[in-house]
Amino acid sequence: MEEGVFLFNEAPLTELMYLGDELRKKQVPHGKVTWQIDRNVNTTNVCIANCKFCNFYRIPGHPDAYITDIPTYRKKIEETFTYGGDQLLLQGGHHPGLGLSFYTNLFSQLKSEYPNLKLHTLGPPEVAHITKLEKSTHHEVLKALKASGMDSLPGAGAEILVDRVRRLISKGKCGSQEWLDIMHEAHKLNITTSATMMFGHVETIEERFEHLVKIREVQSRKPENAKGFLAFIPWTFQDVDTLLTRIRGVQNLTTPEEYIRMIAMSRIMLPNVKNIQASWLTVGKQIAQLCLHAGANDFGSIMIEENVVSAAGAPHRFTYRTIQEAIQAAGFEPQLRNQQYEWRKIPEAIKEQVVDY
Ligand code: SF4
Repeated sequence: MEEGVFLFNEAPLTELMYLGDELRKKQVPHGKVTWQIDRNVNTTNVCIANCKFCNFYRIPGHPDAYITDIPTYRKKIEETFTYGGDQLLLQGGHHPGLGLSFYTNLFSQLKSEYPNLKLHTLGPPEVAHITKLEKSTHHEVLKALKASGMDSLPGAGAEILVDRVRRLISKGKCGSQEWLDIMHEAHKLNITTSATMMFGHVETIEERFEHLVKIREVQSRKPENAKGFLAFIPWTFQDVDTLLTRIRGVQNLTTPEEYIRMIAMSRIMLPNVKNIQASWLTVGKQIAQLCLHAGANDFGSIMIEENVVSAAGAPHRFTYRTIQEAIQAAGFEPQLRNQQYEWRKIPEAIKEQVVDY
């Protein structure tokens, strides 16, 4: 951790970029930049966690509160297929009334109607919430979710995996150790996962590096044949109209240079995580393109729909055509992939969405 902090603070940007790029070439020698087509659909916006950076949730009983119904899923899934997608990223709030059977019934129904659809669902804080509601164990909850159709578990809700930070910004969510324990349990069940970090708010530089070391340590304990964390995705806090900004005056002051340094340091600190993703959604196209020369090898999904980060100000959008143009303009060959990082062919009948928001 100390060495990471030292390099982050002291090494010239170009040296960090060079090192990140060389390590990326070792991990991902094919040199292609992967990307994905999926859609973030929210199961419910009802949440009792009250994260201070979240503009998406509504308290129980609020007039805007919703639980997505099956006809809406059908419409969104069919649109997703039209736009070339193969997966829903399915997440929502910590609804106090929705236990394990709600999710297992939902996943089984979606899989029975759309057997080719992949479900990248929930995140450790939601698994922790369901476990608490059911008075069960992480193992039992994850096993049931997997059996009902969960294909992979996103690394959502990690923010910074240090409890001092979590108490300040997301104290209604599980603590850092529980987040890590759930991921380790998922690895033991051979559920593919990813890891994230949301930075640029109240954390110190040391805490960012503590986070990276914790991710590396959990990955080092995964069973030999498990995929574990397939990717690491650092992204910046979006501060438009959030409580954290309005009440505590916390703003995201991350500069482009700082983001690129964090990408390079993620590659350096995580030799056991193969894919490092640049978050174009939060930092924009140009900075994300530079990250491809600093250790990142993946551009993530075009996200046909995204409501959570966008609600706090993230304005950037790609279609299947413009994301490939951006990767090519950065000097790389784009390659469509699925959540397991297996390559896909772009469907012949793909339609380009109209970005009108
Ligand atoms: S980030 Fe998630 S857990 Fe936190 S308030 Fe928003 S919906 Fe709830």
